[in-house]
Amino acid sequence: MTSIKNLTENQWKPADDLPQHIKDLLVPKSPSQPTNYMLAFIQIVSSLKFQKRTGWLDHGVPPLDTESIADHMYRMSIISMVAPPANVNKDKCVKIAIVHDIAESLVGDITPFAGISKAEKHRREEETIHYLHDVIKPYNPDFAKELVELWFDYEEIRTTEARYVKDIDKFEMISTAYEYELKFGLTYNLDQFYAARAAIKTPEVGALCDAVLEKREKLVTKSKENA
Ligand code: ZN
Repeated sequence: MTSIKNLTENQWKPADDLPQHIKDLLVPKSPSQPTNYMLAFIQIVSSLKFQKRTGWLDHGVPPLDTESIADHMYRMSIISMVAPPANVNKDKCVKIAIVHDIAESLVGDITPFAGISKAEKHRREEETIHYLHDVIKPYNPDFAKELVELWFDYEEIRTTEARYVKDIDKFEMISTAYEYELKFGLTYNLDQFYAARAAIKTPEVGALCDAVLEKREKLVTKSKENA
């Protein structure tokens, strides 16, 4: 279900790799039995708990130490609760953080080095969000609608909350890079992850990032001294 296949444009479909037991749940038995759609939805989303973030694996971080997509979204949600600027709706931020990478449950975590164009990656993710909407709609149509709205809010940075969570996404990633270096030393070249600081626009998140970068600078100096 989670393998990234390098198919040509327009071949890939969200349900291509769905396991049979999930497909079986999606065959409507009767309109009064929407529970099966709910079970199918959470089984699809479950793959986020087990899929490793590809960026770390590509840089040599051991698979057992590599965080999952769900790990990343969980910590973003906590950060969104702890540190929101005064002008943003915290509840909405938490919701955006929890769903922003949900399409990866079927698409996988496609990095720029996977040989799939940015446009094709976007097409797959957009199609998946509509697919997930259709899966959960018979059980909870309000949630189905909200899921799509939150995802597009983030994707198109339509609100202040989306901007804030975009920045938290980078801050969380930078914090993870730093934690890998604390654990493994400067074994892996993670510089490109720190470079994401430049794209952060929310001053509060920028300041948090700078605090991490300052500590990382000390770690780099110290390990050069010990070399
Ligand atoms: Zn993310």
